[in-house]
Amino acid sequence: MTYLEWFEAHANKHKAIMDTLTELSDSEVIDYFSYENMKEKHVDFCPLYAEDKKCHEMKDLNCYLCGCMHFRFSDKGIRKEGDKTYYSLCSIEAKEGKAFVSDGSVHQDCSGCLIPHKKHVIEKYFSRDWREVMKQTIVSLPSSR
Ligand code: SF4
Repeated sequence: MTYLEWFEAHANKHKAIMDTLTELSDSEVIDYFSYENMKEKHVDFCPLYAEDKKCHEMKDLNCYLCGCMHFRFSDKGIRKEGDKTYYSLCSIEAKEGKAFVSDGSVHQDCSGCLIPHKKHVIEKYFSRDWREVMKQTIVSLPSSR
């Protein structure tokens, strides 16, 4: 699955749930996306739910964003440095993140970062439209590439 395929599939899943939550306030929506509630009510939202696993071992894990507004990706490659092509990176260079390098490809590894899963961060960047929150993550490049 490419980054963009994941993005589109997740945006559609997220919207389908949000379309059923019009009666809830923004704060109630954020609470609704708690890991425990989502695992119970929307097992298809995340493959880890069925395995009773979490993407990050943290108390009060929230699944509203799942991805991160600071993430940047392009399936064509964002930039080249020597023989390495960067396909994803962290726009704030969070210290909890790191680069995963293999065969000249560099991908952002967010496995150690809890930033987008914390309630106060979600409140700061909140929109009921997930695509709106994530609009800067897709790096569109000049068509010549
Ligand atoms: S390292 Fe953290 S802040 Fe940076 S893109 Fe990944 S999850 Fe977001």
